[in-house]
Amino acid sequence: MYGKCGRFTVEKPMVLGHEASGTVVKLGTGVKHLNIGDRVAIEPGVPCRKCKLCKTGRYNLCKDVFFCATPPDDGNLCRFYTHAADFCYKLPDNMTLDEGALIEPLAVGIYSSRRANIGLGDKLLICGADIDNNRLSMAKSLGADYTIKVTTSDPKELANQIEDVMGCQPDATIECSGTDFSMRTGIYATYPGGSVILVGRGSADAEVPLTLTFCFLFSYPAAIEFIKNGFVNVKPLISHHFALKDTVQAFETARSRDSKAVKVMIHCDQ
Ligand SMILES: [Zn+2]
Repeated sequence: MYGKCGRFTVEKPMVLGHEASGTVVKLGTGVKHLNIGDRVAIEPGVPCRKCKLCKTGRYNLCKDVFFCATPPDDGNLCRFYTHAADFCYKLPDNMTLDEGALIEPLAVGIYSSRRANIGLGDKLLICGADIDNNRLSMAKSLGADYTIKVTTSDPKELANQIEDVMGCQPDATIECSGTDFSMRTGIYATYPGGSVILVGRGSADAEVPLTLTFCFLFSYPAAIEFIKNGFVNVKPLISHHFALKDTVQAFETARSRDSKAVKVMIHCDQ
């Protein structure tokens, strides 16, 4: 048994799954905003609601958080799953459950952009797709002005290449790979006074000072509005579909570069 995500270490078997949607089949007493049959997106982190951080509106920093598929908490890759009702967000009629599952990564993007104070006209560097040709071409097709395939191991050299390609230093960087190399590159590349947002998590001992947080803070309603109104189309990101019984094959596909997988859906009702 091995595996790590930031400060969390896998020590015993656990249920995976933290990007999920589902249909309500049972309600706890007192739940007023949902009905049986509602389709919902599940925000995977449920904080304690009692500590100072929760009470001052920074629940993503709560130390006593339940987070799906983060040791020791089980995830929601299963047929029936119980979750705090106030962290289940009802999906509009025009949204599919597939889109509902992608509310989670979209909410990460929205929260990261808010933290970076990105505004109209700002130049943005996003690190994370930069060693995979398929993901780079997808980034281009979904709106990136430029893409750069990383070929150097020197973060300063890469920062210079980025400035050459963009014609300027980015106002903000959103680092999604979780590698120390990419974190350092983002810091070197970003315009002085700009923001470097660390989304990806790799080693717990990164050579830059970090306070690890979860990447939401009430971004689900905005993510749902984005898809509902057609501002964002998450469907192109869904590359594969599997039934729950084929979960192992789904994970093999997700980790294979040759499969060109981006987001792999596992359907728990099949
Ligand atoms: Zn708390």
